[in-house]
Amino acid sequence: MAIEQLLILIKPDGIKKSLTGNILTKLSEVRMVIIGAKVLKVSEKLAEEHYYQLRDKPFFSELVDYIQGKIYGEPWNRVLALVYQGEDAISKMRKIAGATNPEEADPVSIRGAYGRITTHGIYENVIHCSSDSSEAKREIELWFEPEEIVKSIYPTKKVVLEKEEKTIWA
Ligand code: UDP
Ligand code: MG
Repeated sequence: MAIEQLLILIKPDGIKKSLTGNILTKLSEVRMVIIGAKVLKVSEKLAEEHYYQLRDKPFFSELVDYIQGKIYGEPWNRVLALVYQGEDAISKMRKIAGATNPEEADPVSIRGAYGRITTHGIYENVIHCSSDSSEAKREIELWFEPEEIVKSIYPTKKVVLEKEEKTIWA
């Protein structure tokens, strides 16, 4: 039994179908703790980096469009990104999420209940869930800055940034 953290994304189809509340409720069943959360519009660069392991697949560019919510447009072209932590968090969360293919997923899992396969063959499965702890580390470091996580989970270092432009409240 290990304490793990993982990245969960409520994908644009989950946002459009107004499933945020349902998904968070289902995920809360296994009593993991949220240690980071934000809503964001996914850039092409972030989408490509997130799915880089699938870059040679024929559906890669459609997958990159999907996670950016391109087919949905405003105001659904965003994701809710969450970092959860807890004992055996990854296997527990992936069980609730269900299999990648919504047709094969347990019907009472999130993907089984809410996912669909598009006419282009993309699995729109409403949620992303890291699959092991090394993938989780890579993904959390990709999606979040250290100060956006309320706990110290991975090693950090201090750097001095010069001439960095930043927007602040006027
Ligand atoms: N995907 C797809 N068709 C496939 C395999 C994957 O559309 O044949 C999409 C699906 O949205 C999936 C994502 O690509 O969630 C990432 O694939 P992965 O194999 O990592 O599955 P996951 O870890 O999300 O279950
Ligand atoms: Mg995966």
